[in-house]
Amino acid sequence: MEEERSLNFIEQIVEKDIQEGKNDGRIQTRFPPEPNGYLHIGHVKAICMDFGIAEKYNGVCNLRFDDTNPVKEDVEYVDSIQRDIQWLGFQWGNVYYASDYFQQLYDLAIDFIKHGMAYVDEQTAEQIAEQKGTPTEPGVASPYRDRPVEENLRLFQAMQNGEIEDGKMVLRAKIDMANPNMHFRDPIMYRIITTHPHHRTGRKWNVYPMYDFAHGQSDYFEGVTHSICTLEFVVHRPLYDYYIDRMIDFGYQRNPNDVEDRTHQYEFNRLNITYTVMSKRKMLQLVQEGLVAGWDDPRMPTVCGLRRRGYTAKAIRKFIDAIGYTKVEGMIDVGLLEHTIREELKETAPRMLAIFDPVKLVLTNYDKTGETIIAENIDGHPELGTREMPFAKELYIERGDFQEQGDKNFFRLSPMGREVRLKGAYIIQATGCEKDATGKITTVYATYDPDSKSGTEGGNRKTKATINWVECTSCIDVETRLYDRLFACENPSAEEGDFRDLLNPDSLKVVTCKAENALRKEMQPLHIEGGVPDLHHYQLLKNGFFVVDQDTTAEKLILNRTASLKDNWQK
Ligand code: ATP
Ligand code: MG
Repeated sequence: MEEERSLNFIEQIVEKDIQEGKNDGRIQTRFPPEPNGYLHIGHVKAICMDFGIAEKYNGVCNLRFDDTNPVKEDVEYVDSIQRDIQWLGFQWGNVYYASDYFQQLYDLAIDFIKHGMAYVDEQTAEQIAEQKGTPTEPGVASPYRDRPVEENLRLFQAMQNGEIEDGKMVLRAKIDMANPNMHFRDPIMYRIITTHPHHRTGRKWNVYPMYDFAHGQSDYFEGVTHSICTLEFVVHRPLYDYYIDRMIDFGYQRNPNDVEDRTHQYEFNRLNITYTVMSKRKMLQLVQEGLVAGWDDPRMPTVCGLRRRGYTAKAIRKFIDAIGYTKVEGMIDVGLLEHTIREELKETAPRMLAIFDPVKLVLTNYDKTGETIIAENIDGHPELGTREMPFAKELYIERGDFQEQGDKNFFRLSPMGREVRLKGAYIIQATGCEKDATGKITTVYATYDPDSKSGTEGGNRKTKATINWVECTSCIDVETRLYDRLFACENPSAEEGDFRDLLNPDSLKVVTCKAENALRKEMQPLHIEGGVPDLHHYQLLKNGFFVVDQDTTAEKLILNRTASLKDNWQK
């Protein structure tokens, strides 16, 4: 059941615009990732907004790659971004690239020069930065600021022709070096990049537009009505509007009959989550330096990492819905994200028994062969299916479930005569144990009550404790990867020093356990379609929620721990 929620502030704006007949009631959004890394859960917040608004108001959301910096961008990222958006359950109208508009943007830049609104600056980046001033102090004009139009046209052409070295010249908008908004102090429009080919346009361009000179214009060319982004772009908004206003002045009207047909930018708060970092630059560093196993390492906050960890698209979207959209920056407790997946898997993940620290249990009075126990995948839900568990004289149980001495507060196995139920099977009583030369217990002995089988009349008899078990000859060794939080501190981005020193040294433990026979069916390469694996989730009773990992082979099953069972999330 979807709960009714009130409209977020952007939905309110959109509804008002529709009521007022703006843009002829047309709603068009876009999701504009830079293809310089994999999507993270912060991006999902933006995706749910951009695609969600379009879906809700019969509009369209396009996917637009903001590919204006060939140094950092790659098709690998373009592909992964599309895969992840579709996995989340969204579909774009069109795929666009900022690079589709390189010619238009170049021509527009020439218009700016012709109108005396842009100039080629030959100062270094450092000099330009020094002259910016501060919010309370005006900047200093570049000595090249008043260069004649003809010279600017010639030099900009030379920049594009590859005649000028990288970093030697930039094209700047001539706006206002004293403006209190620093972004108006003659922002850079174009820079030279010849070191890297562009992943789509190759070597065609030697000059590339800056974000501010590409983003708003791309929105405008495409017909975007609501350009939604995060709060750090609030200070860019006046420049976004300025460039579009100039385009309209220059005669670029996209709908000459409707002056209101233009794009507006709206901003919401970024998603930040505790115990992780949410920056592609830092994630790339973790990947490149081998501090994680890749972009899809299950500890990463990337969409592919969360997927491999066992998060479903549904749970991720539910989490995004729960946190909502505001205009106030904050930090979300990762406990809420974990709570969301637990709530889902509690209802859906079949249960399995697995023993992590095994000791052999021998039932001395058991002499049947070939018995199997039929157990429900989820107790109390026969409609969710059953599984067969071979049962025999020799089983493995958890070492911690037996105490040689016992005491009155220990309700599991000890020779004190307590009755304990083997999960889904019989009631047993320990009678003793055997140890090796070092004193380590090697075998526990017990007797079973043949009339106590679960599911029969005697199965209703209550015991204080129920313990896990697997049958010795049919069980399989399973590698479990027990993941914990990637960072040891709540907000690694706020700490002094190197964020890499804050990694949690215990974020991954690998433990081989003995799991019941029913998991054997997972011993095969994972089914992967379109780059996305089919996730099979389980709850290993008393241990946590797990998902089959893509490293699994016919010889070896690997399970990733999605979440422990204990939920410490407080509303
Ligand atoms: P990063 O800082 O991780 O590199 P970015 O903002 O540079 O992220 P883009 O690819 O430019 O990444 O982002 C595409 C869209 O996703 C933008 O509209 C941006 O506002 C949004 N976005 C990025 N990070 C977050 C976040 N943490 N929460 C919400 N939206 C985000
Ligand atoms: Mg960005």
